[in-house]
Amino acid sequence: MVLSELAARLNCAEYKNWVKAGHCLLLLRGCLQGFVGREVLAFHRSLLAAAPGLGPLATCRSGSRGSPRARQFQPQCQVCAEWKREILKHHTSKNGDVHWGNCRPVRWPVDAWEVAKAFMPRGLADKTGPEECDAVALLSLINSCDHFEVDRKKVTEVIKCRNEIMHSSEMKVSSVWLRDFQIKIQNFLNEFKNIPEIVAVYSRIEQLLTSDWAVYMPEEDQPDGCDYETGVYLSEHQVNEIEMELLKEKLQELYLQAKGQEVLPEEILNQLEVVKEFLRNNEDLRNGLTEDMQKLDSLQQQPQKLDSKEARAQTPEGKA
Ligand SMILES: [Zn+2]
Repeated sequence: MVLSELAARLNCAEYKNWVKAGHCLLLLRGCLQGFVGREVLAFHRSLLAAAPGLGPLATCRSGSRGSPRARQFQPQCQVCAEWKREILKHHTSKNGDVHWGNCRPVRWPVDAWEVAKAFMPRGLADKTGPEECDAVALLSLINSCDHFEVDRKKVTEVIKCRNEIMHSSEMKVSSVWLRDFQIKIQNFLNEFKNIPEIVAVYSRIEQLLTSDWAVYMPEEDQPDGCDYETGVYLSEHQVNEIEMELLKEKLQELYLQAKGQEVLPEEILNQLEVVKEFLRNNEDLRNGLTEDMQKLDSLQQQPQKLDSKEARAQTPEGKA
């Protein structure tokens, strides 16, 4: 790793803020995974208790017919139709904005996580558990499923911040923004006072956001009282890992936006150009993101498909 590149990046206060905010999202994800996993099992059990006919003995009779796609799902058998009804009963989205394409309905009677994915954002079909999900996936589940008893405004505030982090084309946020994020994230964490692992992350996030976040470089003397456990001091390797994870999530978000034609192709191109320029100057990050960039580039190389009136006339996710 080229230390001077990292040092130069962190000299920019607003970029450092962006990475700090991303670190908060990773801490948030870490403390939510176990809790969400347990609650999803409890939710599935409660559904089966209320409707025993939906349990492991229920067999989907649709075979490969009528698989869900994006927001579309036309059940082809009685079991799937009943499951769809149950899921919608517990979904807080009033406009039916459900990403059925995440789910394999044939697994609903036996796999709680396949049910959970109906309450999550697009693009999660291949995720088999909370440990594979990012913060926004878990937050969206908590927000969209009425099994979770929380003040939903506090959840959506954090989701909004997360989207601002990921959509920041310059990969920078101001210190004022970061302070506001801290308040919103702590309002959210306060909703879980009886979950010890979530309470524990509260002080870590507070320390992280209020500290100068000194990065320990191996050639320097170790600062006095440096405590790695608090997460205030990080090694350059740890910072690099956080940056990499954050950039990967940003690129994946860009990929899903482009694929779903959620934003104009020009906007995607502009954002991609900024990232490319950034990576040109930062070889240490560039090497780890080659695959992600290629995936995006290959999508960009089909402009006629993305631009065609036909494609736009169809469903937002592409082919019907
Ligand atoms: Zn079925």
